[in-house]
Amino acid sequence: MKVPFLDLTSPYLELKDELDAAYQRVMESGWYILGKEVDAFESEFAAYCETKYCIGVGNGLEALHLIVRAYGIGPGDEVIVPSNTYIATWLAVTHAGATPVPVEPVESTYNIDPSLIEQAITPRTKAILVVHLYGQTADMDPINALARKHGLKVIEDCAQAHGARYKGRRAGGLGDAAGFSFYPGKNLGALGDGGAVTTNDPELAERIRVLRNYGSQIKYHNEVVGYNSRLDELQAALLRVKLSRLDEWNDRRRQVAAQYMRELAGQQHLTLPNVPEWAEPVWHLFVVRHAQRDALQKALNEAGIGTMIHYPIPPHLQPAYADHNLNEGNFPISELMAKEVLSLPMGPHLGGEDIPTVIGCVKIACDKKSKDLRSI
Ligand SMILES: *Cc1c(COP(=O)(O)O)cnc(C)c1O
Repeated sequence: MKVPFLDLTSPYLELKDELDAAYQRVMESGWYILGKEVDAFESEFAAYCETKYCIGVGNGLEALHLIVRAYGIGPGDEVIVPSNTYIATWLAVTHAGATPVPVEPVESTYNIDPSLIEQAITPRTKAILVVHLYGQTADMDPINALARKHGLKVIEDCAQAHGARYKGRRAGGLGDAAGFSFYPGKNLGALGDGGAVTTNDPELAERIRVLRNYGSQIKYHNEVVGYNSRLDELQAALLRVKLSRLDEWNDRRRQVAAQYMRELAGQQHLTLPNVPEWAEPVWHLFVVRHAQRDALQKALNEAGIGTMIHYPIPPHLQPAYADHNLNEGNFPISELMAKEVLSLPMGPHLGGEDIPTVIGCVKIACDKKSKDLRSI
């Protein structure tokens, strides 16, 4: 591969000395679960997200699932979710025993369409779970207004949006509670699994703390049927090092995105991301659209450019959700996205000739594809 889709070695090598020191510190401390490092990371990440509370948990799916559980949402309840998302968003609702009710995205931003939410609300609806897909926030003001009108909670899936802003405010504090993932490839990635909940709601924060630790506040006293879902000391220590670079690395992603936007503008049949004036995305992914996506991906692969598809099958068409009786044709925008989206290489460690190489190859492939399209 000339330009791999994702490079997880360079982030480690750039911070090797600091990460190795953090590792040593934890190894030698003799304390590995719920200690000083998790406490410190929680305050630092809450400050970063401009929220009052942060609770470290096992992963992003658990962060979202614990929020749903902590709000008492369960069997018989409905939660509005985007039809266009990674399946974890839906699983968080399903694991709590509630039903995900999908709503289509705005085609130009890929995020949930606020104007379609109200018609999906029923007397069973308890929350709206929004996703800030690819690192750009959903349009939160109309969503929060609807939630207030109908007495619903607003939960943010921030797994792709560490540091993103909406009208100047940070993702993670834009609703009632937010779930983050620190899966290694995310903008803030651990060197293993990790996740966190952020919120300004003290009662919710307390319930999440209890739920993540066997439902107990005092060791061996179990108040509720809890889980074992804790961010561990080692990952917290490593995340503290990486958090200190998050803004700088997000800026580098912005530079890559700006270069793609400039140089790929006007390419025939290629749709670039659209950034509304209220959005300040962090470019977890740089996603383009093309009617002949599979051919474009194949051409790029042959030219040594790594790409991925986020996501090839929408949750409603996954065998895992077969019992929900949702079929092909039910969510046409999401189904079209699944056929047309393609993620180009993106990350803070792309440099030198990487981006010009990708851009050159995309242009050649698009020109070829335009000719194919004209001959049809
Ligand atoms: C990564 C991701 C998750 C899940 O995070 P994990 O830490 O892998 O459990 C949830 N939602 C979205 C949108 C994601 O991208």
